[in-house]
Amino acid sequence: MAIMNTENNTFFESVQRNFDKAAAHTRFDKGVLAQIKACNSILRIKFPVKIGEQVEVIEAYRVQHSHHKLPCKGGIRFSMEVDQEEVMALAALMTYKCAIVNVPFGGGKGGIKIDSKKYSAFDLEKITRRYTSELCKKNFIGPGIDVPAPDYGTGAREMSWILDTYSSLNPGDINAQACVTGKPISQGGVRGRTEATGLGVFYGLREAVSFADDMEKLGLETGVEGKRIIVQGLGNVGYHTAKYFQEAGAKLVGLIEFNGAIYNEDGLDLDAVQAHRQTTGGILNFPGAVNFADPAEGLEQDCDILIPAALESVIHKDNADRIKAKIVGEAANGPITAEADEILHSKGILVLPDVYLNAGGVTVSYFEWLKNLSRVRYGRLEKRFNDNMYKELIDIIESMTGKRVSDLERKTILRGPDEIDLVHSGLEDTMIGAYREIRDIHVSLEGKGDLRTAAFICAINKIGVAYEELGIFP
Ligand code: NAD
Repeated sequence: MAIMNTENNTFFESVQRNFDKAAAHTRFDKGVLAQIKACNSILRIKFPVKIGEQVEVIEAYRVQHSHHKLPCKGGIRFSMEVDQEEVMALAALMTYKCAIVNVPFGGGKGGIKIDSKKYSAFDLEKITRRYTSELCKKNFIGPGIDVPAPDYGTGAREMSWILDTYSSLNPGDINAQACVTGKPISQGGVRGRTEATGLGVFYGLREAVSFADDMEKLGLETGVEGKRIIVQGLGNVGYHTAKYFQEAGAKLVGLIEFNGAIYNEDGLDLDAVQAHRQTTGGILNFPGAVNFADPAEGLEQDCDILIPAALESVIHKDNADRIKAKIVGEAANGPITAEADEILHSKGILVLPDVYLNAGGVTVSYFEWLKNLSRVRYGRLEKRFNDNMYKELIDIIESMTGKRVSDLERKTILRGPDEIDLVHSGLEDTMIGAYREIRDIHVSLEGKGDLRTAAFICAINKIGVAYEELGIFP
């Protein structure tokens, strides 16, 4: 049964509601809008896996929300909350997200309904491999069909099991490596994918706080430095987001995990908290910090920017009124229910929506997919050429001016870009460009919609045109 949030809406209904609000501001007719909204293919499977001496029946899904561009793209989640409606909602968000950041994919998502903490690595491998072979059987995976990636509860390890299973069932497929992204580097992964979503969240929020007009309305200064941040969920996305904020001079005042929250208005050192978590099994009782045994209370503490980076519907109609942050950055997918969104909006809180803010993962997944298809590491061809060209330029400048460039300056200028530099700069450019596009739409709405509506309008306009130009609607 679909999981309801406190407003008795499913997550999927919330996404549809956001879509409808934005669709009213577009020029497309009902049929085109209905096609953009519809989930194109849904796979629901149950398969047996032997765990110890018992056979367990595992429930799993893969949803391809939109085929307007192929392959479909989206993560695979391991969680007990997984059901068909959740995966449909997440797949739909992927379609809009890809359009917003100009990544040429349709949206997809997968989910396996398990509590990964209860299984050994050996059992998780069996479950992941069996799931992959089911996807192969139903033609729901492949470099040009549907390309999974990590999501909640999964990472590079699971992606390499998927690649290995796909490759063994498709011998001779020269593009096999492009069947999944978020792989370890040795298996064709791209440098920068692990931190991509968190770094994208940082770039997106950094761009948002750079607009003086917008910050003035919130009573905030521009810039990241000194901003007080709370992050919920210290997994892949939350940890990296927190890390980049700390490095840029922001103050991490609150951190929230599933078993408790901590708060210290003087700031928390992220790596010290992680070390404490390793030794004690949780973040509670970190020296100098106030404890909240109920993690939800952590969301309601004073801060400038609140970043939910765990699961959906954590800000709902019953706690939205108590949120004190001036900005909420949706690093997780769907952390704010539709009703809570309206409450936050009426309180003047600026919400950076998931469809934009966590698109860094799929952006760098796109770079990984391109790398796999081209079979060449980014920077390999041009690095030495750039080194040599910059060297000549410096020599010319030195001989023309009669002055010497210092060794340190020479070293900085002469370094041609490595893969990681190119991936990070491609991501930065994508997040900045997309924010400006959404903000412009938001300004043009003249108060008749928020940034989420603007982001959905941006997506609907691009997908609508793609459908029209496909010639499906005569
Ligand atoms: P993860 O499994 O790496 O981390 C999730 C973290 O949240 C874990 O540390 C977990 O203990 C914690 N958590 C669970 N319930 C919690 C609760 N009630 N309160 C506080 N913390 C809680 O997952 P992730 O990959 O970081 O994904 C997090 C969110 O970001 C999900 O919504 C996911 O869909 C979204 N997302 C992930 C990616 C990606 O590249 N991994 C990309 C886009 C969006």
